[in-house]
Amino acid sequence: DALSNKIAAGEVVERPASVVKELVENSIDAGSSVIEIEVEEAGLAKIRILDNGNGIEEDDVLLAFQRHATSKIKNENDLFRIRTLGFRGEALPSIASVSRLEMKTSTGEGVGHRVVIEGGKVEVFEKASARRGTDVTVTDLFFNTPARLKYMKTIHTELGNITDVVNRLALSHPEVAFRLVHNGRKLLQTNGNGDVRQVLSSIYGLSIAKQLVPIEGSSLDYKVSGFASMPEVTRASRNYISTMVNGRFIKNYPLVKAVQEGYHTLLPIGRYPIVLLNIEMDPLLVDVNVHPSKMEVRFSKEKELNELVTRTIKNAFQSKVL
Ligand code: ADP
Ligand code: MG
Repeated sequence: DALSNKIAAGEVVERPASVVKELVENSIDAGSSVIEIEVEEAGLAKIRILDNGNGIEEDDVLLAFQRHATSKIKNENDLFRIRTLGFRGEALPSIASVSRLEMKTSTGEGVGHRVVIEGGKVEVFEKASARRGTDVTVTDLFFNTPARLKYMKTIHTELGNITDVVNRLALSHPEVAFRLVHNGRKLLQTNGNGDVRQVLSSIYGLSIAKQLVPIEGSSLDYKVSGFASMPEVTRASRNYISTMVNGRFIKNYPLVKAVQEGYHTLLPIGRYPIVLLNIEMDPLLVDVNVHPSKMEVRFSKEKELNELVTRTIKNAFQSKVL
């Protein structure tokens, strides 16, 4: 019902960036090869996601806005085994309960559909011509949850969260062409050619991307690969160290420490590298620790993994100094 959607929304949609994340993940799950993200006022005025994916069939359009009506798998423990990013069927109903949401969608066969939902209430559901794919526009986010609205930080901070989310999704999906536009200004464009290096250079610029070295290593249970910046390319924040498990972004502080340990004395105090690390592993060896959407995880053979990560980075850089 409307109330439980609103309560769930408190968990799923904390801020504009969470709306962007959920909608873009849906577009990825729908097999899109091109995803355009248009935001105004850091998403508080408008968030629009346009994709060229499967679209939704007539009978499923309204269903998609009901809680737990996922067309995907449901078990949270299977998170690292499943291919789709969504699994709980909570995002659309949650977002629609705290905003004005318009969706146009078409499977490419026959006519498409248009639905408008305001504060969780379906106002319009009609046939409408649309090209194959889905086009979602969210306006007036948090209009009916003033307490939540009060928690919004500056436009600058909220926009930073949005670009982080989109950068990460672009990095983990180099096969999808992403375009992010804020207040009419293009912030990111990737070409979808499958090359992570191209995404890195769209995000950081060509000169920095050139100073990212491919890294690779393996132990009994883990295989790590990715890119790490030369020790002279540093940042003032740890946030540029990103970690994935089987292609899905995760948070795990010991892993970030293990990366830093790999650089050891090479980095000035208070400076951090740019690192993109993907860990391939048996999903049984990872636990989703806290809230699944926050993606805090715990590894069961933590020491083995951290040593591997430190060693892999060391091999890439320390040897050059000695
Ligand atoms: P989940 O992603 O966990 O399944 P959501 O609430 O995010 O739950 O979405 C509900 C359902 O709506 C999805 O399972 C999917 O079938 C459909 N859907 C949502 N967005 C799209 C999209 N962009 N393209 C195609 N189908 C979509
Ligand atoms: Mg989803």
